[in-house]
Amino acid sequence: MCNLFKDSNYPYIIAGPCSVESRQQLATVVEVLLREKTVRMIRCGIWKPRTRPGGFEGLGEPALQWVAELKREHAEVRFCCEVASAKHVELALHYGIDALWIGARTTGSPFAVQEITEALRGYDTPIMVKNAPNPDVHIWQGAIERCLQVGLRHIAAVHRGFDIYNNFGYRNSPLWEVPIELHRLMPDLPIFCDPSHIGGKRELVTELSQTALDLHFDGLMIESHPTPNEALTDSSQQLTLDALTQLLSSLVVKTEEQQGTPAELQALRSQIDAIDHQSLQLMAERFALSQKIGHIKQQNNITIFQPKRWDSLLHDRLQQATHLGLSTAFVKEMMEKIHAESVRLQEEELHHTR
Ligand code: PEP
Ligand code: MN
Repeated sequence: MCNLFKDSNYPYIIAGPCSVESRQQLATVVEVLLREKTVRMIRCGIWKPRTRPGGFEGLGEPALQWVAELKREHAEVRFCCEVASAKHVELALHYGIDALWIGARTTGSPFAVQEITEALRGYDTPIMVKNAPNPDVHIWQGAIERCLQVGLRHIAAVHRGFDIYNNFGYRNSPLWEVPIELHRLMPDLPIFCDPSHIGGKRELVTELSQTALDLHFDGLMIESHPTPNEALTDSSQQLTLDALTQLLSSLVVKTEEQQGTPAELQALRSQIDAIDHQSLQLMAERFALSQKIGHIKQQNNITIFQPKRWDSLLHDRLQQATHLGLSTAFVKEMMEKIHAESVRLQEEELHHTR
């Protein structure tokens, strides 16, 4: 399948502002990013889906006019933007936007995806499909199938993380297993990662980008802005253009030969790293809860160690271990260590307040 999103061995890099805010802002981005040889396309939000009304909702058509002007000034520049309706598609194509993407909130709505893809029937426009906010691989797959159904050929998925109850310090939890499952279902489909919307904070963007490459993602979409602190949307996650340049030069793109170990092994190790990071986060939450419990016990004059509770807890965990096919000896030892640490923390809490 010919797919321009997978036309080289190097990851497909897209960078640019969350939203277009002024002609000068976009012109600066173009000037700097055209010097970055690995940046293939500039993202530029024209219409912004806001969670609550009243925020900056994008400049719409005037911003598209700047896009068209900058394309006349720089023949080599490519732009992409989000579309959420047939009208957006019509306007974006009219002003010469080179590629489109369907945003997370839109992917979750099959009617909207159908409307957008119908508007693209007969065009060869490259399109990216972000995952819906909920971790449902089939709704993501369905949106991609709707693109295929109208004859689009240049398609990529974009992993922007998932909005779940506990996001572990991320804006949107990475849940890497979901894009990995999408890859299993659609092995020819390029999958990009959007570390900016996953992280939500610029400090997390470099590490997430590298993790994505280690997991064999085919590209990255990174939000960057000349003056992120003044950005009208997603200010805390956008990188300065200098920071973007640094990030791009720091990326380690491992070919299979360079890795010296099979690609599959690397991918599995990265998944293990991600699971360990999540496990430690959960552990930290567990201990925070037992500290709270310690406080309540203290206020109610309840002793820290409650043998009955411990017996029933251990019984429950060993039963779960059996169901999961885990060694009960291992789980017993692990639970004893965790319980001992909880008791230690509750005692510490008690001595603090005495
Ligand atoms: C965006 O790319 O700026 C955006 C709104 O992202 P998402 O659809 O992933 O929330
Ligand atoms: Mn954004």
